Amino acid sequence: MASDPNGRPPLLLGAHFSIAGGLHNALYSAAEYGCGALQIFTRNSRTWKETPLIEAAVARFDQARRETGITEIAAHTSYLINIATPDEKNRTRSRDALAAELERCARLGIPYVVHHPGAHLGAGTGQGIATAAREIRGILEALPGTACRLLIETTAGQGTGIGRTFEEIALILAAVDAPERTGVCLDTCHIFAAGYDIRTREAYDRTLAHFERTIGLDSLFVLHLNDAKTDLGSRVDRHAHIGEGAIGLDAFGFFMQDPRLARCPKIIETPKMRGKTDMDRVNLDRLRGLAEGRTAM
Ligand SMILES: [Zn+2]
Repeated sequence: MASDPNGRPPLLLGAHFSIAGGLHNALYSAAEYGCGALQIFTRNSRTWKETPLIEAAVARFDQARRETGITEIAAHTSYLINIATPDEKNRTRSRDALAAELERCARLGIPYVVHHPGAHLGAGTGQGIATAAREIRGILEALPGTACRLLIETTAGQGTGIGRTFEEIALILAAVDAPERTGVCLDTCHIFAAGYDIRTREAYDRTLAHFERTIGLDSLFVLHLNDAKTDLGSRVDRHAHIGEGAIGLDAFGFFMQDPRLARCPKIIETPKMRGKTDMDRVNLDRLRGLAEGRTAM
């Protein structure tokens, strides 16, 4: 991990990196970008097919973690999983896939699993929340010794998606009732699209105070730092490069400099390339600049 010449705590800045060629490759990519954190998919995120995790892959991942010194790792679950669905067949499949993800991450020593709470598909928000909470509770009870923490990600509230408001997330967590095994991942693009303004100091403070009041900042473990292509309250989830979207650069400075969030890994999920430009480098540099109080465009 890149150490700070001034002895400040590491930034825990990272990106979502590819596991092409093996899970361990994502850790080496993160190190190459000077990251102190990263996010991965532990499997192909667009299929239901489970690829068994072989012992050699776990060993290589462990070795890469030792060599890079990067321990702040989040795994994002498959987009297909919907534990809030009223459809029983799909819910069973989703439950199995989420449980498998938690087990895989426990074997890999990945501390955080980031998960979208799902969509109620017409059953109603209250029903969706109750269903999602019951499923999560059941999964955690079936895996008592699993050390990784399941984080519910804030959503833009597209379609019938649940988790658009902090209140909805708080209801899910309260119903699961396992604070030592659960938490929240806050995505800046999603909360902005959901209607939470963060563009000015005042708006940022108000939104974080709202989070503190409803969920509690103690329950916040990972940040997804993405700018938004769509406007405040649009409910449309489209990630833009840092400082180039409707949120704008200032907000990211507030997040990077907030001492309450210093312990949280901060992960970008922005488009990788623009023409021949490696945009991960550009976006990560912008965030580093903001952490240091430089205007970094
Ligand atoms: Zn996200």
